[in-house]
Amino acid sequence: MGKLAINGGKKIREKLFPAYNYIDDNEIKAVTNVLKSGKLSQFLGCWDPDFFGGKNVREMEEFYASYFGAKHAIAVNSNTSGLICAVGAAGISPGDEVIVSPYTMSASAASILVFNGVPVFADIEPDYFCLDPKSVEAKITPYTKAIVVVDIFGLPYDADAIRKIAKKHNLIIIEDAAQAPGAMYNGKYAGTLGDMGIFSLNYHKHIHTGEGGVVVTDNDDLADRLRLIRNHAEAVIEDKGNQSLNNMLGFNFRMTEIEAVIAKEQLKKLKSLIDPRMENCKYIADQITKLPMIKDPGVRKGCTHVYYQQPFLFDSKVAGVARNKFIDAVAAELSPTTLRETEGIQLSSGYVKPIYLQPLYQKKQVYGNSHFPWEPPYYKGDVSYAKGICPVTESLHYDQLFTNELMHPPFTKEDLNDVVNAFYKVAENINELK
Ligand SMILES: *Cc1c(COP(=O)(O)O)cnc(C)c1O
Repeated sequence: MGKLAINGGKKIREKLFPAYNYIDDNEIKAVTNVLKSGKLSQFLGCWDPDFFGGKNVREMEEFYASYFGAKHAIAVNSNTSGLICAVGAAGISPGDEVIVSPYTMSASAASILVFNGVPVFADIEPDYFCLDPKSVEAKITPYTKAIVVVDIFGLPYDADAIRKIAKKHNLIIIEDAAQAPGAMYNGKYAGTLGDMGIFSLNYHKHIHTGEGGVVVTDNDDLADRLRLIRNHAEAVIEDKGNQSLNNMLGFNFRMTEIEAVIAKEQLKKLKSLIDPRMENCKYIADQITKLPMIKDPGVRKGCTHVYYQQPFLFDSKVAGVARNKFIDAVAAELSPTTLRETEGIQLSSGYVKPIYLQPLYQKKQVYGNSHFPWEPPYYKGDVSYAKGICPVTESLHYDQLFTNELMHPPFTKEDLNDVVNAFYKVAENINELK
């Protein structure tokens, strides 16, 4: 029996890590008022004042728009539905190519397929893990119409470089800011750096309403289309008049009055949740990067990072053991988080498998047995989803990157020290892993 918990030794920590429950009396009071009113939603799927939703939805939208400095905020019922609205509003048509990161939650790419666009995966930056502008430029073809950028882990993408490329090739930028509410890029909020930005309000995000999302944009025409796609466009368009019929198929992506009041209370707290998260991440990084095999990738110049997850780079040559072995051993020293016990230890080798390796893309099959939208006559390009198309992403995912979530407020110094001590214990006893 070794010293390391993975070899049967005693764990550093047995007690569960603290829950992060950010719902308090303000949400409870606001929700109670909505419940007492009896009117839990006020949307109508026709051209009517209630096409825009109830009082609380509209107030919440105004609050989000002014907070983030955007002209419009459009409340939806998830970031995924917001992405679908954005792809539709961008006018993506069958066979159009949309460049997207392969290292993100699957919806960033799947939303493109809803309007029968073809996702084209560009590689990511080896240090900041967002779309690499050079790779984006290399993937542009005559069929490219838009780019879906992702502020992955909570750090804004390279907005100046991507904007330059988009301008040159006349492309729309959709920013998936699900992981980065409150992050800054040269004084502007993540989410407002492209043509449309989308925030998630699902339970796992910085702030949440259970399920929910918000799209922000400065463009009146895009805002109009986003609202139509959110709420049964096809049934509204005729009476509303003055609309192109292109892509005006709508859905029910409407937010309820209950989620709207929660969303408002949650945004008021955003800064007070982000600041301790940043401090905790700095504390962990300062400690564990003293270990020679662990590197902090740092923060892009001019940006702040809000750490949805905290990424690190692992050097297996320096360590003499593979990343997975090391991280498995650290995780074995620790305990799950309260309310999220079933998810295991919140420390992960890599993030998500590069999206193009999912069966859907490997088979190029999304509608029954057909290969639409990858087939002629609509699609004239030749996109590849073969292993190896994004070598940086694959190397990071399979060998180098690990992410830590054991740093949310209300983690105390003692909680953080347990995390740090687990890394030190494994590093000091690394011979047990060889
Ligand atoms: C969470 C997340 C989504 C999906 O958000 P939902 O609100 O659950 O639909 C999309 N993209 C990224 C990058 C995410 O982290």
